[in-house]
Amino acid sequence: MTNARSNRREESVVAGYDPARCPRCGAVNACAMAAGDPRPCWCTRVVVPAALLDALPDDAKGVACLCAACIANAAAEGDAASC
Ligand SMILES: [Zn+2]
Repeated sequence: MTNARSNRREESVVAGYDPARCPRCGAVNACAMAAGDPRPCWCTRVVVPAALLDALPDDAKGVACLCAACIANAAAEGDAASC
C-alpha cells in the first residue's frame, strides 16, 4: 500500500485534494474556512490571478485553496490580470 492518507474524515477529500493544503505546492494553505475558523480567511483580502485558477486541475477547483506563497509568486511573475 502506497496510499499515505490517514484516517481523517474522508468526505471532505475529493480526488486526493486536501482542503487544508495548497493544490499547487502542497503546503498548508492556512485557509480559515477549511479549518472551521469563524474569522474571515486571509484569502478574502487578496485577488487570486485568474491564470492561477485556470492552471489548477478541475478536481481541485472549489475544493482546496491556494496558499499565500503561490498567489504572491504568481502576482510577482506578472500573471495577475488586474487591469
Ligand atoms: Zn501553494
